[in-house]
Amino acid sequence: MLVEKLKKMLDESSYDVVITNKLTGCGRGHDRYTQGMILPDQMRILIKDGLSPEERTKTLIHELIHESHPDWDEEAVEKNTQTLFESLNDEDKGYFMFYAQEAAHTQTNLTWQPSLWFTPEN
Ligand SMILES: [Zn+2]
Repeated sequence: MLVEKLKKMLDESSYDVVITNKLTGCGRGHDRYTQGMILPDQMRILIKDGLSPEERTKTLIHELIHESHPDWDEEAVEKNTQTLFESLNDEDKGYFMFYAQEAAHTQTNLTWQPSLWFTPEN
């Protein structure tokens, strides 16, 4: 199941979840999902500052799905994010919220490095 695969990624690969205000206009995907970015080389998942707990959690799930299914396009990733989030039981929802909230740390002064960012597609 997808949910088990994503939990395994968080548990075993020790991704660092970073809340940052430096995501504007950069990143993967389109419009609202420049809310997040996954940087597998650095083992970091960046989430935009100021999102509601629910949106943070969905963004985290969205970025993990990108990593687990690199062949899926943006639409498929987002569709599966919504479906998965709606189907989470309380325990699993708490699990992802923990990583998107409690375990996440805020970093408002990430130093910009070209290697950190993807070039916007258009
Ligand atoms: Zn995306």
